[in-house]
Amino acid sequence: MLSLLKQIIIKNFIFAHTVRDMELYGIIKGMASEMGFADFGCAAAEQLPAHVRERYISALEEGRFAGMAYLGRNLEKRFNPALLVEGAASILVFLAPYSLPDSSPAPAGIAQYALGRDYHQVIKGKLFQIMERLREMYPRFSGRAFTDSAPVLEREWAVRAGLGFVGKNNFLISKSCGIKNFIGVIICNLHIPETKDAEPEKFRMAAGRCGDCTRCLQACPSGALEGEYCMDSRRCISYHTIENRNLAADIRQGDVPDFHGRLFGCDSCLDACPWNGRNLPGWEEFHENYPLLQGKIPQWWESLTQEEFGRIFKDSPLLRGGLENIRESVLWNKRNI
Ligand code: SF4
Ligand code: SF4
Repeated sequence: MLSLLKQIIIKNFIFAHTVRDMELYGIIKGMASEMGFADFGCAAAEQLPAHVRERYISALEEGRFAGMAYLGRNLEKRFNPALLVEGAASILVFLAPYSLPDSSPAPAGIAQYALGRDYHQVIKGKLFQIMERLREMYPRFSGRAFTDSAPVLEREWAVRAGLGFVGKNNFLISKSCGIKNFIGVIICNLHIPETKDAEPEKFRMAAGRCGDCTRCLQACPSGALEGEYCMDSRRCISYHTIENRNLAADIRQGDVPDFHGRLFGCDSCLDACPWNGRNLPGWEEFHENYPLLQGKIPQWWESLTQEEFGRIFKDSPLLRGGLENIRESVLWNKRNI
């Protein structure tokens, strides 16, 4: 009799917690939508499986991360979220759309993601608000927000959180909100149901593959997309124009591809993807500099002083490559005409 009573109590306890946690999932989803995120999902904060690690390490060892030495640091943290947040239990993943309306051509040579305020600032600002609200509800809440700023494999977590699949161009593809989305992540110590349990149908529908499509591979002007799911940054225009800290020297040595007119980033493998048809309108913050950049010819960059560049683009992703890289790119494009 006592044992039966115990079983009933335990069952009720489990049910009460499941209901409360499911409610929490819904509350976070509501916050995400209120803030304009295109989608939200949750994955358990477990160590990533061995095949993810092996793929990453082999890309590193083969030199496919080019000069981005930071990608070779903190390796253990990349695969184990518990090393980033003590007691990590859940990974909350949010998609922030940045697409320009179809009718708006991107300014010459500048990738679309860089037309507004720095996405790190914008997205983290919103993730901090979500964390603050979670802390009010659960004083024991502890967590950290990330967006492309720490050793976190955001795309991997987005897939595990049921937000999409990784295309042959290496971007996350969401069947509901397309391909032009930034990924923001909160790693926290709350046990929140995974999307695969909270929304099984959505999770099932998010999975996918590129199938026979090879449009992005064909569209890459420099051959950096070597094959399916295999990108070599040493030949990638985005890498050279944004990340390469030795661009001038590499150009002198002939170690860079033709940029085909690009000055900062490259959208060719993104724009070629048919899933662009599902993009949602991007946040206005991500287009703030669009009117300013529209119609600027390459010589405009040559006439800009460092002081003017720093003032105009103080909150922009363009600061990452810096004016020097843009000018080197202008010169390199002239030589390749
Ligand atoms: S960003 Fe441009 S250069 Fe790099 S892989 Fe994509 S299409 Fe190729
Ligand atoms: S262009 Fe085609 S192959 Fe490339 S990511 Fe999109 S669907 Fe996949």
